[in-house]
Amino acid sequence: MTVEPIGPDSTTLTIRSPLTGELVGTVPIATPADVAAAVTASREAFGHWGRLTHHERRHALRAYTRHVLANMDRIADTIRAETGKDRGEAMAEVTAALTAMDYFARHAGRILRPKRGRSWPFPTTKGWTEYHPRGVAAVITPWNFPFYLMMLSTIQALAAGCTVVAKPSEVTPHSGALVAVLAAETGLGDGVVRVVHGGAETGDALVRSDADMVAFTGSSAVGKRIAAVAAETLKPVILELGGKDALIVLEDANVKRAAQAAVSWGMFNAGQTCVGVERVYVVDDVYDEFVEEAAKVISALNAGEGGKGDIGPFISPDQVDVVERHVTDALERGASVVSGGSRRTIGHGVYFEPTLVVGVDHDMELMREETFGPVVPVMRVEDEDEAVRVANDSPYGLHGSVWTRNRRRGARVAARLTTGTVAVNDHLINFFVPSITLAGTGESGLGGHLGEEGLKSFCVPKGITSARTLPTTMLMGGWLPRRVGPRYWKLLARSLFGWRR
Ligand code: NAD
Repeated sequence: MTVEPIGPDSTTLTIRSPLTGELVGTVPIATPADVAAAVTASREAFGHWGRLTHHERRHALRAYTRHVLANMDRIADTIRAETGKDRGEAMAEVTAALTAMDYFARHAGRILRPKRGRSWPFPTTKGWTEYHPRGVAAVITPWNFPFYLMMLSTIQALAAGCTVVAKPSEVTPHSGALVAVLAAETGLGDGVVRVVHGGAETGDALVRSDADMVAFTGSSAVGKRIAAVAAETLKPVILELGGKDALIVLEDANVKRAAQAAVSWGMFNAGQTCVGVERVYVVDDVYDEFVEEAAKVISALNAGEGGKGDIGPFISPDQVDVVERHVTDALERGASVVSGGSRRTIGHGVYFEPTLVVGVDHDMELMREETFGPVVPVMRVEDEDEAVRVANDSPYGLHGSVWTRNRRRGARVAARLTTGTVAVNDHLINFFVPSITLAGTGESGLGGHLGEEGLKSFCVPKGITSARTLPTTMLMGGWLPRRVGPRYWKLLARSLFGWRR
């Protein structure tokens, strides 16, 4: 991508292809007044959308899903134009979006059904929790999966009954905006999904607007800024942030498969993947075999234009500086490169060769900071305990994976990792399974996406009680003037709970 010009004086974003430098298009930058107007229109739309039954919304969202399915080529072409991704990867991104759309359209009604509470110890009261849509959801997303990530938050918001004001990345505005364009074409209703364009200023204006909540996906640095602004009005935020995801290979793993996975998911989307492989820890017994297998896989890959090469260009060319800095720092501190290691410029595109680094440790930036490039650093560890200790030695906690032929052991190790999601004998799959919660810990985020918990994040949980006969507080002696004293409460507590073991 090339974004020009952008800043407080500019009124337009001009987007060029990272592959060819050709003009993709221009979009107007929203002013704070435009953002406020979009939120007002979204609130008006909420008056209708928020009152639909789940059955009615399901009908509308299934039509939306069908429309996205019918427009896969158009969406993939836009993603490819703005990101330079291989067309297959762009199409996979749309397929992933469809998976989430299908799931939330079909299951939101069941997930958000009122939940009955147990009456005990108040049999004279019944109670339940209802899930009401929060209202207008501000959805702010990054550039690495520009359609999928925008759709992921949008579909959950819509299924919960919220309306959406979307702010796509300034790097990939057309891909993100398609979520609103396709919603309008489906006939979801005027203003149900609105879009505002721009960079940090527009995003900041949206966070400070009257929107009822913020669903943010992006870097940890920006996530913290958003949390601080939202805290001023106690606006609920969901933060899906950066990661430094570890892949652990135990001595009883299928080493060949683990090596293929490490390279595949370390290189996927040219390494620009929040849940990709950023670090690898291999138990001593199988370390040499792993490195040999990984080297074999990686040396057959090429940086090059999607379709011809395997690793595409950086979507944001500045990222190559970060990747190069991390690799250089590692080499200066004693690591060595088995394969790759350099930047390349091919035509207009900026690339980094698929790279395997060994001899790394936690003094190196490559093992501590998010690299976001096609680099797989591999560290030798003594055993399972050391693997878990070093994997947990990170401020991030997004995703991780464990490779072992013993699935019980895999689940046990997964439970010891301080990340929001873990895959056993796979990697990254969690990102695409809509029924399983995706929630980062530490600097990787707050709140959750996906699964029942993710959907409920777009709702206000409302607890309701209803007296079956006389008010329970009256029956229990809680009313004034006071008729019971401390002895009564003690006796009551003992009779209720004293017999429990
Ligand atoms: P970024 O944080 O720079 O930008 C993300 C979005 O926030 C953009 O739309 C940007 O315009 C907007 N923004 C910037 N400053 C803002 C502010 N002050 N207030 C409101 N909005 C603001 O991230 P990026 O560089 O676009 O994306 C890469 C990052 O995203 C990586 O760290 C990656 O790990 C992370 N990411 C996380 C997930 C996840 O699910 N956890 C998924 C994809 C990417």
